[in-house]
Amino acid sequence: VRANYAPFTNETNTLAGIILLLQDVTEHEKLENMRKEFVANVSHELKTPLTTIKSYTETILDGTIEDKQLTQQFLNVIDSEVDRMTRLVRDLLQLSNLDFQQYKWNKKQVYIDDIIEKVLIKLELSAHNKQQILKYVKDCENIKINGDEDKIEQVISNIITNAIKYTNEEGQITIELLKEGDYAVISVEDNGIGIPAKDLSRVFERFYRVDKARSRELGGTGLGLSIAKQIIDSHEGTIKIVSGEGSGTKVTITLPVIEEMAESFVV
Ligand code: ADP
Repeated sequence: VRANYAPFTNETNTLAGIILLLQDVTEHEKLENMRKEFVANVSHELKTPLTTIKSYTETILDGTIEDKQLTQQFLNVIDSEVDRMTRLVRDLLQLSNLDFQQYKWNKKQVYIDDIIEKVLIKLELSAHNKQQILKYVKDCENIKINGDEDKIEQVISNIITNAIKYTNEEGQITIELLKEGDYAVISVEDNGIGIPAKDLSRVFERFYRVDKARSRELGGTGLGLSIAKQIIDSHEGTIKIVSGEGSGTKVTITLPVIEEMAESFVV
């Protein structure tokens, strides 16, 4: 709490009282700290690949490596570090657009089942490469929502990609689509490494990662879930995670559905 005071006098110039101003600055300070932390994180995340790129290019430019294969290996490292920076900048730009409400939503009536099926086709190969089983269960067809198809696809893809990334070989990932009241409920459950209780409430924060090294190694930026939350919030939906260390993770998204009008009433 910040305190300010000012004495005030009456007509005879004698002290009549004191105005005391107590200001709660905790929220302001919290925001300021978050901002500083964010800038520090961005700088660090950009500096790491730049340092690697610089040292590998210097070594190649030195001209002392004769082994062509080694040069090729170095170039591959540079190439993947550039990809990492590209992903990071793409995610940061997207967050900034969402923050400043500059993103032009392209909301339309779309079938959520179609979006999920599209994502599953794209991710089947990554799961297959880890000998994982992707199981899809749905209890009803043609669930319509008012949504930005690309963005909802991005969220579902991000959640399933996380399930694949943070689950060992031969794991199982179950994607379920239900309709509960006025909401479509999409859940993605894995039997992977899980998230310790102490980290669970923080995974939606920008750059928060349970294991930084592991996330980086798997190509993560640590921004996926915070972007997902912003997108789902903008669709009046919810996103929740239930997880335990070593016992897998379940991410559940709800989105309001549009009730189908009986065709015969439409003229
Ligand atoms: P990242 O790019 O690091 O995957 P996200 O924002 O998507 O970033 O997720 C934040 C963190 O939450 C991850 O680094 C990981 O520690 C944890 N996480 C997310 N999904 C899962 C999951 N299915 N299983 C275990 N941990 C997860």
